[in-house]
Amino acid sequence: MDVLEGIPVSPGVAIGRIAVLDYSRAKARRKPIAPGQVEHEIARFEKARIESIEELNRVFKTAQAHVGDDPAKIFLFHIGVLQDKRNLVQAVHDRIREQLIGADAAAAEVFQTWYDRFMSMKESSFTTKADDIRDLSDRVVGRLTGQRRQSVAQVAEGSLVIARDLTPSQTVALDRGKVLGFATDLGGRTSHTAIVAKALGIPAVVGCRWTTQTAAGAQSVIIDGDRGRVIFDPDQITLDDYARYEEQRRTFHLSLDELAGLEARTSDGVPIELLGNIEFPDEASDVVRAGGQGVGLYRTEFLYLTSDTEPTETDHFEAYRAALAGLEGRPLTIRTVDLGADKYTQERAETPERNPFLGNRSIRYCFKSPAMFRTQLRAILRVSALGPVKMMFPLITSLGEFRQARLYVREVMEDLAEEGVAYDAGLAIGMMVEVPSAAVMADVFAREADFFSIGTNDLVQYTLAVDRTNEQVAPMFDPAHPAVIRLIREVIKAGRRQSRPVSVCGESAADPEFALLLMGLGLRTLSVTSSAIPTLKRMIRAVSLTECERIAKKALVFDSPGQVSAFLRDRARKIVPEGLAGRSGGP
Ligand code: PEP
Ligand code: MG
Repeated sequence: MDVLEGIPVSPGVAIGRIAVLDYSRAKARRKPIAPGQVEHEIARFEKARIESIEELNRVFKTAQAHVGDDPAKIFLFHIGVLQDKRNLVQAVHDRIREQLIGADAAAAEVFQTWYDRFMSMKESSFTTKADDIRDLSDRVVGRLTGQRRQSVAQVAEGSLVIARDLTPSQTVALDRGKVLGFATDLGGRTSHTAIVAKALGIPAVVGCRWTTQTAAGAQSVIIDGDRGRVIFDPDQITLDDYARYEEQRRTFHLSLDELAGLEARTSDGVPIELLGNIEFPDEASDVVRAGGQGVGLYRTEFLYLTSDTEPTETDHFEAYRAALAGLEGRPLTIRTVDLGADKYTQERAETPERNPFLGNRSIRYCFKSPAMFRTQLRAILRVSALGPVKMMFPLITSLGEFRQARLYVREVMEDLAEEGVAYDAGLAIGMMVEVPSAAVMADVFAREADFFSIGTNDLVQYTLAVDRTNEQVAPMFDPAHPAVIRLIREVIKAGRRQSRPVSVCGESAADPEFALLLMGLGLRTLSVTSSAIPTLKRMIRAVSLTECERIAKKALVFDSPGQVSAFLRDRARKIVPEGLAGRSGGP
């Protein structure tokens, strides 16, 4: 039995067989062949090509069933390339015959010319196609060289995926019916892969460093997303302990479900608004089921991560309309596209950046792609005519940026008005506070922004200079750092002074201990993943606001994150002892 510690990012425990996903590139050696071997090599290539087409047809059907028609179209493109008689089939045959080289190298070289051609076209849809060609090349060349990779869509039912890393889009493609959980070597607590795992509702542990290495030779694994443990080949005692733990967990969740219909009000009667964070429209109804009062953060960039082509205005509109319908009259806060950084693999980025988190991401990316931005704004505005919608911009660092973003909205409003298309002219336009410059200037922004949503995932990253996706510095990623708490306090104060609603929508809001502090600092709205709503509600109903204010006052005195966390843990344990036992207890 081998036990690895990692970062728990999505709760629950899963036990099952191992599927190691290896995303290393398939390599082909350029081996010279004798003229007599030409037909044999061509036949080898044809076999690999036909088998790949058959495999892709299966993958297409699975993807269609699990992620819908549009995202599944990627695989039709792959099949089309493999059926291209002139540019692929003939080109590989000619290369084998004329250059007298093996099928592996001939195929790899032809795919490389396709790749180079797509890369030379500057449009983002072509660079995405280049990635598809690389993927396809790995599939075919891997077959020829025997370096078979297991892809996300191929894992057997009941598997626990072990991988060095998963991009957000690979995580999105995990088949919920087949994959019971995953663990990766890399990644941090608030990486988007972690966020998607939570949305899928499967246990996940990231940043374990040695999972892929340890998985070699192991038969089964437990992924403990509550405690951040990955246990390979567990012994009978451990399996029995986990069976008991599962039973306890089930009982705990039953009692949390009963909370869904109750109000989120402190024991001294102060209402706290509990909203949900979503990545996909169908999660809106999960938020309602969990007792949420609306959506405080809709991460719309996931529309791009599940599709091979740029979403159209209709794609946007339909997604927003579906989310709104799921909320049955509750408000929907749509964040404009936050692409870049880890929400585009480095390979996929049009121009690879050395420091993508400090580079062309979020609102900056939108300003560089005005047509794309306008398309999204049109859809948001159109949907605002159908129900309570708010809009906010990510990663605002200066007033100029906020104004520029608003100007786009105004222009799009004018266009719609000219076309006679309905929209809500009074829709609230707010901003995320995710960088220290925005937090420090919150009083200035409060004159122009209709509301603030504090994104602690990025605010912690940028305040403490800790990459949120890097497991090597994960222990330093701490929202309880006094510098972060002071920034949050200032934003809440600035908002209150000018009657601008303030919420926190980073992962830290979902931590009931931290939520005590936030409420004590004056926060009245928390936006979290739907599964965290009941636990938060239990905490809110058990505590008075006066107690929260006392807690916040005391927490502000400490000068180290460790002291703050220990203090909050202690207070929370006194308030809801049974809630915390359910969260952090276990075998
Ligand atoms: C944040 O940064 O806290 C946030 C909510 O945005 P995202 O996690 O999508 O970057
Ligand atoms: Mg962010």
